[in-house]
Amino acid sequence: MTELRLISGVGDKTIKLLNKLDVKSVEDLVMYYPKRYDVVKRTDMNLVNDGDRVCIDGIVEGRPMVMNISGHLKKYTFRISNDVGIYNINVFNQSYVCKNLRCGNWVTILGKYNRLQNVVVASEIRNSKLGDATSVEPVYYLTEGISNKGLSKLIKGALEVSWEIRDYIPDYLQERYYFLAKRVAIKEMHLPSSTLLYKKACQRLKYEELFDYLVKIHYFKKKRQLSDAQAIKRKIDEELVEEFILGLPFKLTKDQGAVIQVIKEDLLASKRMNRLVQGDVGSGKTIVAFVAGYINYLGGYQTAFMVPTEILAMQHYQNALKLFVGTGIKIGLITSSVKKREKDKLYEAIANGEVDLIIGTQALIQEKIRYGNLGLIITDEQHRFGVNQRECLKNKGSFVDVLSMSATPIPRTYALTIYGDMDVSSIKTKPEGRREVITYSVGYKDITRILKLMRRELDMGHQVYVIAPAISSDDGVDDLGNVVNLKEKMYLAFGAAVRIEAIHGKMDILDKNRVMKEFEGGQVNILISTTVIEVGVNVPNASMIVIFKANLFGLSTLHQLRGRVGRGDIQSYCVLLSDNEMERLKMLEKCNDGFLISEYDFKCRGEGDLFGVKQSGGVTFRLADIKRDFELLVRVRDDVLEFLDKYLFLEQYGDYRQYLDNFDSVD
Ligand code: ADP
Ligand code: MG
Repeated sequence: MTELRLISGVGDKTIKLLNKLDVKSVEDLVMYYPKRYDVVKRTDMNLVNDGDRVCIDGIVEGRPMVMNISGHLKKYTFRISNDVGIYNINVFNQSYVCKNLRCGNWVTILGKYNRLQNVVVASEIRNSKLGDATSVEPVYYLTEGISNKGLSKLIKGALEVSWEIRDYIPDYLQERYYFLAKRVAIKEMHLPSSTLLYKKACQRLKYEELFDYLVKIHYFKKKRQLSDAQAIKRKIDEELVEEFILGLPFKLTKDQGAVIQVIKEDLLASKRMNRLVQGDVGSGKTIVAFVAGYINYLGGYQTAFMVPTEILAMQHYQNALKLFVGTGIKIGLITSSVKKREKDKLYEAIANGEVDLIIGTQALIQEKIRYGNLGLIITDEQHRFGVNQRECLKNKGSFVDVLSMSATPIPRTYALTIYGDMDVSSIKTKPEGRREVITYSVGYKDITRILKLMRRELDMGHQVYVIAPAISSDDGVDDLGNVVNLKEKMYLAFGAAVRIEAIHGKMDILDKNRVMKEFEGGQVNILISTTVIEVGVNVPNASMIVIFKANLFGLSTLHQLRGRVGRGDIQSYCVLLSDNEMERLKMLEKCNDGFLISEYDFKCRGEGDLFGVKQSGGVTFRLADIKRDFELLVRVRDDVLEFLDKYLFLEQYGDYRQYLDNFDSVD
């Protein structure tokens, strides 16, 4: 790793800012790729429509006028002229730039054109004339205190410094595909020299990311299979399992039964299980997990059941207590809010093998916990956990079996490719007698109707979720897209008699829990939230969810969010507000099946989720996208399998083997 300090002009202050972007070294910085590119080219003003983004240059006419709009908000107006005409320029809050405007100087304006008033609302002003050539400029994700121009300059500086990044593509594959050298490819990402070279660079870097990920997955799979001989083999009285299932308060669905059957076979065979169970929200995955835990218990081993939130852990714990009455299973709950003294006692009991089923949050993988005889690890909503955490937990028992549950199904072919090391089962049939959530996708002009509908639900004593993609207007989403503004708007709409609270990712965990508890308890009527409302949260009295800027979410994320309502026996509603992409959103009006939705989502391969749960499965890459780049992914998978089969164990790949052995997990 090369220190950031080596870039000219970089000191402590800049380093701090870069750290905020998770950039800790020169290597991180050169791999901080742009989120998009702006094409800067003089706009033909005879062809623009109202509201178009434009880029024009001209001579400043006179001094800018300042107007105080409110509090901190200042508006500057001035005019520029060029061969084509005269334009009014409005700009907000850029006092620094405006003070430097000189009458008669050339400036370039980037912004949005309002035809009626002949005004350009500028997002950027540059003190120079536009060149005649088109230029392509990278646009980066930023943090406060650093501008796009500033960051571009830093990256240029970093590209000059000598840095060393390991190349993970084996030589023979580099030759097979005529790949660009990694250095060249990285430079091309920031300073594209032509469309062709940029595309080649992008393809090469994506290939490498996917290769690095898949080679680890398949290497571990190989290693795991080699240790199958040491896998746990259980002997149980299978009739007890049948009895337990017959004693349940409901009849299992066909798919639940089938999945339990394969899990049982896995657990009884001498093979290390690593199975993913996919099933829509409400399809009944929990009971499958508990039966797996029961089989494991009958075989004489402990089960650790890890869930993403305390609320969920508590729910599962209470559920388990009821379900396992009379079976002899002893159940423990570990969360960060259990008192220390009780916790120590519980730890001891776990170490002595006196507790059979341990339910908890991340706390389950703390160093402190020693398991007496761990045999099975279950993770609920697996995509919420880093693979790292799962591996860490796995290491607590040497040859334990692993069962993961996910409520964001992805099509089977995708799942098998991206998860490579897991067997995948699906629960598609739903328990009978469910009321479907009624979904409407509507434009903002219908907002009064929606507010009335909300009012009706509130009057019946029901609760409502309101979802927005961003926390505040700083996040670049307008009024209707952020939690802070919506809270004010809802307050104006419903008044003080309705209690409205907001919850989002930047809040303190204690505050978050408090708000969540109050919503669960029914004291809060409307909960406004980003997508942090936890997967699996269960508030049966919530009968409506209203999602603003729904077009910014992937369909699967929207379906997940919709799953927050319709959990009791009251008719529930989901409203998707958007003025764009109505056709895509209409799909959800007609369809309530997570598998079909995900299939459709994958087929469209849109830009997808800007604000949702990132790429289902928690697998994220800097450049590659498992939907859009699926063909590449399949190609890489085949190359990886060939590499492992024919090359990795050759002498010249000793370094590569060492590299792979250094990882305990895929990260
Ligand atoms: P999820 O798959 O989202 O985790 P849960 O396991 O929480 O779903 O199940 C949702 C609800 O359905 C629970 O109240 C559960 O008791 C109930 N349930 C599960 N399986 C069945 C079934 N076969 N018949 C009827 N109700 C069921
Ligand atoms: Mg669940």
